[in-house]
Amino acid sequence: MKIIHISAECYPVAKVGGLADVVGALPKYQNSEGATGQVIMPFYKNNFTKEYTFDTVHEGSLKLGADSLNFKILTPENGDLGFDLYLVDIPELLFTNYVYSENDTDRFLAFQIAALDWILQNKHVPDIVHCHDHHTGLIPFMMSHAKKYIKLKNIPSVFTIHNAQYQGWFSHDKINLLPSFPASHVGLLDWDNCINPLATAIKCAWRVTTVSPSYMEELKVKANGLEGLINSESQKCIGILNGIDIKVWNPESDDLIVKKYGVTDCDAGKKASKDWLCKKFGLNPKKPLFVFIGRLVEEKGADLFYELFDLALKNLDISILLLGSGNKTVEEQLTILTRKYPKSYNAYIGYDEALSHKMYAGGDYLLMPSRVEPCGLNQMYSLRYGTIPIVNKIGGLKDTVIDISKGGFGFLHTENTIKGIFNSIKRATQFYNDSSEFKDTRKTIMQIDHSWDESAQQYVSLYKSLIPNL
Ligand code: ADP
Repeated sequence: MKIIHISAECYPVAKVGGLADVVGALPKYQNSEGATGQVIMPFYKNNFTKEYTFDTVHEGSLKLGADSLNFKILTPENGDLGFDLYLVDIPELLFTNYVYSENDTDRFLAFQIAALDWILQNKHVPDIVHCHDHHTGLIPFMMSHAKKYIKLKNIPSVFTIHNAQYQGWFSHDKINLLPSFPASHVGLLDWDNCINPLATAIKCAWRVTTVSPSYMEELKVKANGLEGLINSESQKCIGILNGIDIKVWNPESDDLIVKKYGVTDCDAGKKASKDWLCKKFGLNPKKPLFVFIGRLVEEKGADLFYELFDLALKNLDISILLLGSGNKTVEEQLTILTRKYPKSYNAYIGYDEALSHKMYAGGDYLLMPSRVEPCGLNQMYSLRYGTIPIVNKIGGLKDTVIDISKGGFGFLHTENTIKGIFNSIKRATQFYNDSSEFKDTRKTIMQIDHSWDESAQQYVSLYKSLIPNL
């Protein structure tokens, strides 16, 4: 079975968030299960494309409305990512030092057309086309209805929603940029008088998945305007919990942390990373260390941080360390706090993969007061590194964390307010003081299996249900 994943991000090529981690891991596991998982994504101007050399496997010219754009499909000459990687090089549109911008319609439309043009002329077409998020949301529609791609009509398409907040809306004025299709199908593109790639994918993909079962249920109630659509298409929708790449996220072999550790020597291993972090950021290593890693946006609860951290640092004997970037007001507020609490709080505003690993290893607790969390990978990484998660009871967080009071291993709150989160931090601080239970818990959580094995198996079963004769 050949599965081609189409995505805007894929680790380690280009990563903005969890989408990259998933697309960089799932095909690896599919390959180890005997299927062939491949990835096709844009060729950006970044460190990965600077460091690698590439073979050209295809050259073509695509139509984007009246424009003709030359493109190439490149594959890395060296290095083994664990799956075949194909990069769509459209110099005028995709070769940028960012993945996303405010104005992405033409970029990702051209990307989707190039990907399909290439698949169309390939000798061996895939058995499944698996698209991820709205940047690839028009592919199921084009495969089913664009005249040019009629040969791809019978290839099943699977569409995974990693985040339904972002839908890729654009005006009908741009409809001519799409390859021609029967006018009677225009309704499939429309949602609220816009072309909505996410809605189109939900309508046209053969199957729709979300990255956790609870998120699928939540989208039926609240999906940034698409809840009615998700309810009406629910018979083809299923939630499959993401796994984590346990080869990349493994404290026993992680070169990015200060001292490698397993379950038996986790106390010493975690202490080494905590000491390193505390020294670097001027914090007291004796206090419980709460870390946050992520995008500073409302979805992650970032607008609450200033008041929350101020309250927690004023009232509890703890340290907080934050790594993230996003909303500029939040970034400024978080920088002000470094001056107010220089010995118990610090923040690195920016993106730093290596620091994130050290924080998963050296933190005592991971804070994730998200308002929306389709799956959330951070809490699963933190479990693997023995860092106890403090989370809001929603989406994938609800599916992966059980509260300590219920015989579990984390802290969950249902009221995601400053008061609700503060109470969880307070409970966690008290728990830290019971040193033996605290240390036992981190050994327990390191052994929870969130590898891709089971989730990859669920995807294979889903694909097989679409191609019963294979
Ligand atoms: P989302 O995709 O919504 O941002 P996820 O929890 O699914 O959230 O995935 C976030 C991923 O991005 C994790 O691998 C996390 O470690 C990483 N990450 C987020 N922000 C940063 C940052 N500033 N520096 C390093 N890694 C980050």
